[in-house]
Amino acid sequence: MTEPLLSIDSLQVWFPLRHGILNRVRGYVRAVDGVSMDIAAGETVGLVGESGCGKTTLGRAVLGLEKIHSGTVRYNGRDLATFKGAEKLQWRRRCQMIFQDPFASLNPRMTAMELVSEGLAQHGLLKGVSREEAAIELMGEVGLDAESRLRYPHEFSGGQRQRISIARALSLKPEFIVCDEPVSALDVSVQAQVINLLIELRERHRLSYLFISHDLGVVRHIAERVAVMYLGRLVECGGCAEVMEAPKHPYTRALLSAVPRPGRTSGKRELLSGDLPSPTAPPSGCPFHPRCPMARPECAREAPPWRETKGHGVACHLNGG
Ligand code: SF4
Repeated sequence: MTEPLLSIDSLQVWFPLRHGILNRVRGYVRAVDGVSMDIAAGETVGLVGESGCGKTTLGRAVLGLEKIHSGTVRYNGRDLATFKGAEKLQWRRRCQMIFQDPFASLNPRMTAMELVSEGLAQHGLLKGVSREEAAIELMGEVGLDAESRLRYPHEFSGGQRQRISIARALSLKPEFIVCDEPVSALDVSVQAQVINLLIELRERHRLSYLFISHDLGVVRHIAERVAVMYLGRLVECGGCAEVMEAPKHPYTRALLSAVPRPGRTSGKRELLSGDLPSPTAPPSGCPFHPRCPMARPECAREAPPWRETKGHGVACHLNGG
């Protein structure tokens, strides 16, 4: 079996809660609490779950943007924590992020060309005319005219701004991109265009994506595998078609029943009741038990083990994987 491009093992990202004049740690927000998963070269894994479940923190942690409490992230078999100097710089080029709100993530005082070539400048790659030519080529690759290179972010539409963000991420020739809700701030009509562009670029450059979204309908279009996250933990993971057609976890079923599907006129809806509990004091046993319509007494006592069969894993006492 080939080594995965990215391998996450028992990852925990906890944020300390400090209190009092001595600033003592009196607890933790367990944003990511024991997540394990692999991403292969050229693969897209969709990461779904409600807002606040830890998706973005996980995405930032695998790029080294959050301090890891415990567990490891391996890139091409190497623990990120061991990268130093030139090797760390090289890894930073290879792993990029596309953010949800392109307007907030783009400097309003920079032109499109400056924004696209900023990474090249920061890493000392190319100079003068060559750098400008590279930026124009990247803009063309994401469907932006060379004539718009001297325009500022506010002169572009939301979809065009996201294309600038994508060109920026591409400028350093990455292998892996965390796409954090890249289309949720866009009109529905523009979402499909940006998703198609990401698919095209993935094929052309053999990119791997961790595609974070709260929308399973969007994930279905782009991901080969999907991982469902609840309160900092993975509750189900498997092939996109299999998880969407035959979900095993009650939480995944509830998320799916909220997705409108053409032709579905009937069928039992499993609507979620209550809010996501606080990650500072997660429920005992199965973290989903206070909201689960199928909870049994043991669900509040024991955390369900992760069971996997033919690449489809689930954490639920009712499922043997
Ligand atoms: Fe529901 Fe129990 Fe399964 Fe958790 S372990 S999802 S509470 S049935």
